[in-house]
Amino acid sequence: MDFAEQLKSQLNIVEVIGQYVPLKRQGSGARYVGLCPFHSEKSPSFNVNGTLGFYKCFGCDAKGDVFKFIQERESLTFPETLKLLAERYGIPMPERRERPDDAESQKRAALLEMQEIAATAFQDNLRSSAGADARQYIESRNVSKDSMDEFRLGLADASGQQLAKKLQKFGSALLDESGLVAKREDGSFYDYFRGRLMFPIHNEAGKIIGFGGRALRPDEKAKYINSPTKGLYNKSAVLYNLHRAKIEARKNSRMILVEGYMDAIGIYAAGIKEVVAASGTALHADQVRMVKRQVEQLGNAGQVILNFDSDKAGAESTEKRIGSFLAEGMRVKVLEIPDGLDPDEYIQQNGADAYRKLLDGAASYFHWLADRTRNKFDMSSVEGRIDAFKFLWPTIKQVSDRLERSAIADEVAGYLNLDRETVRQQFKSSQSRAEPTKTRSFASAVPPNEKLLLACLLASADARSAIRHYLAGSDSLKLLELRPIFSAIVSFDEQTRNFSLEDIVSQLEPHFQRILTEIGFGELPVSEEGAAGQAVNCLRAMEAKDIASQCEVLRRKVREMEKAGDFPAAMEAARELNDLKSSAGNAQRKAAGA
Ligand SMILES: [Zn+2]
Repeated sequence: MDFAEQLKSQLNIVEVIGQYVPLKRQGSGARYVGLCPFHSEKSPSFNVNGTLGFYKCFGCDAKGDVFKFIQERESLTFPETLKLLAERYGIPMPERRERPDDAESQKRAALLEMQEIAATAFQDNLRSSAGADARQYIESRNVSKDSMDEFRLGLADASGQQLAKKLQKFGSALLDESGLVAKREDGSFYDYFRGRLMFPIHNEAGKIIGFGGRALRPDEKAKYINSPTKGLYNKSAVLYNLHRAKIEARKNSRMILVEGYMDAIGIYAAGIKEVVAASGTALHADQVRMVKRQVEQLGNAGQVILNFDSDKAGAESTEKRIGSFLAEGMRVKVLEIPDGLDPDEYIQQNGADAYRKLLDGAASYFHWLADRTRNKFDMSSVEGRIDAFKFLWPTIKQVSDRLERSAIADEVAGYLNLDRETVRQQFKSSQSRAEPTKTRSFASAVPPNEKLLLACLLASADARSAIRHYLAGSDSLKLLELRPIFSAIVSFDEQTRNFSLEDIVSQLEPHFQRILTEIGFGELPVSEEGAAGQAVNCLRAMEAKDIASQCEVLRRKVREMEKAGDFPAAMEAARELNDLKSSAGNAQRKAAGA
């Protein structure tokens, strides 16, 4: 077994995918559904089958195993996927030389190298005489020399020519994709970041994939600019400092989310390491799940503490973010720092322990929201209180657990001194969710016995091997409507290849592909232990039924020939009937004795 197979056998596909897509179990089996991450949809058509280790979307036809999912979702190469999963689940990986062999891996390696070259150049600039002003700014923000080095802060050269020259050897295609340079109309390149304080942004594995650049001159239009979304960098799948924060976040089951890079550096430097910053105000669902993956353990929902600027914009983005995290079933707290200070300012003035106390005492999002409401609406009138409720409702609605949502609605009613019935009406009207659309079933036309047989073969390796041996001594394969599917499964078993639904699906015509995945993702009415016996019984039953119908045909022929007076033909048919009956009897005895 190679490492990939070994790793796969230790991973639970439902658990792995469940960290990206909220999954709901269907019935009592290992089948789960959720909203497809590969296309936009309102009702779930994304299926994950834990027994078969396979996912499939009936909406956009995305499908594959656990590795395929991570590869697509994280845009990684196959070796990178193995590495990420091995690290994430603490499965030791055999030492291997890093030698990217395919074109895609080589390109990625080159892009990573370019970011690394840029980071080093930026660091050197900051340490040089040209960096004096920037260093002064950093000092004014109380960032120590150690933090400056650890976070690899840098300075983009003001000329706009440094990286364009340094990276020239990579060629224009890679230059363009690196996001480090921009293209002029004449095709020449100039540096994307100029004269800015640079913050390298890493991926979860700790590799630099892009940069954030802060303006140092007050006349710059944009205070912050980030690498453009291309090549390695995707702004909606990045959290600043995640690779450093994750260990502590897992240990403490909590993550602190702050607004700016400087906040994150300040809090981290104070020894509170489970802190990340989101670049940009809108938080993408992928970023929410990145946080969730780190803090959620053993069914414990995990906690996120939102620590944003207390100004109006900060409060509004906090409101939006509360909703995003609630929708993922996370526990959300909001930390508001007294006197309108930034987190790093607060730590400078009051020390790390004071900040820690604030964190531990952070209020549940609900109290924070409700307090905001009190200032916003006229709480002395019923109309004002109903408006307040309507204001809170979109956030409450995001709570994914129905019971909790109902409890919160009651609490809100109490808090706003509103008639509970009014609140319940509001609550009910939003309950009517769209029912999942029924996909047209191809499998419904398949004879029940064949469906059951297929289910047995999917459920158990013993059943596959039993059926292979059975079919070697019988030609009943021809009786089966799903012949191509069964042949493919049997020949796989013959080659003693590892059974994989995906491999079999890939060998079939689209019509049979659909039937196989439908049955694969249906409730399999079999247990793994009983499957071999059940499978053989299915085949025998089909054979018996076939013989019975052949006998019926012969019996009819005998009667017709007798009526017509053609006695030799009637005798011939009667003999055939006898032969058929006795050979069926022999086969049954043989099967019973085997
Ligand atoms: Zn889909």
